[in-house]
Amino acid sequence: MRIAIFPGSFDPFTVGHADIVRRALPLFDSIVIGVGVNAQKKALFSAEERVEAIRKVFRDEPKVKVRTYSTLTVDFAKEENATFMLRGVRSTTDFEYEKAFAEANKQLSGIETVLLFTAPEYEYISSSLVRDLYSYGKDITPYLPK
Ligand code: ADP
Repeated sequence: MRIAIFPGSFDPFTVGHADIVRRALPLFDSIVIGVGVNAQKKALFSAEERVEAIRKVFRDEPKVKVRTYSTLTVDFAKEENATFMLRGVRSTTDFEYEKAFAEANKQLSGIETVLLFTAPEYEYISSSLVRDLYSYGKDITPYLPK
């Protein structure tokens, strides 16, 4: 079984995140979306709201599971029997960050990171942009999966 985790804050889960998961589906038998819960990081949406929303997006996709975790990401991967970690890359900034994490995670547990490039139309979308718009009462539905 090829199992991958897709870890993130997903505060909220955007069309960019959904696109990465959909495009990675042919690569894996199962993808576990891990909603990271960090007590130090103040989230706009609760972990339950984030999980609920993501489950709705993939309700017809049996290969996708959604869970929360509050441990180190590599330990979450072990719990899920995952040997791959899926991440998305939008820019060179993302690339440098992901490169460092992939190397560290590989050293820690042998996990292999698989990176997919963002579709150009989603490149500018980030959870923080969506949170900003939301806090000013703007319509955020164009950035969220249906
Ligand atoms: P984190 O806090 O771990 O960076 P995020 O929820 O911001 O978590 O992102 C999770 C993953 O999704 C990261 O690999 C990030 O680069 C990727 N990602 C974020 N936004 C997009 C997007 N618009 N298109 C593709 N990938 C994205």
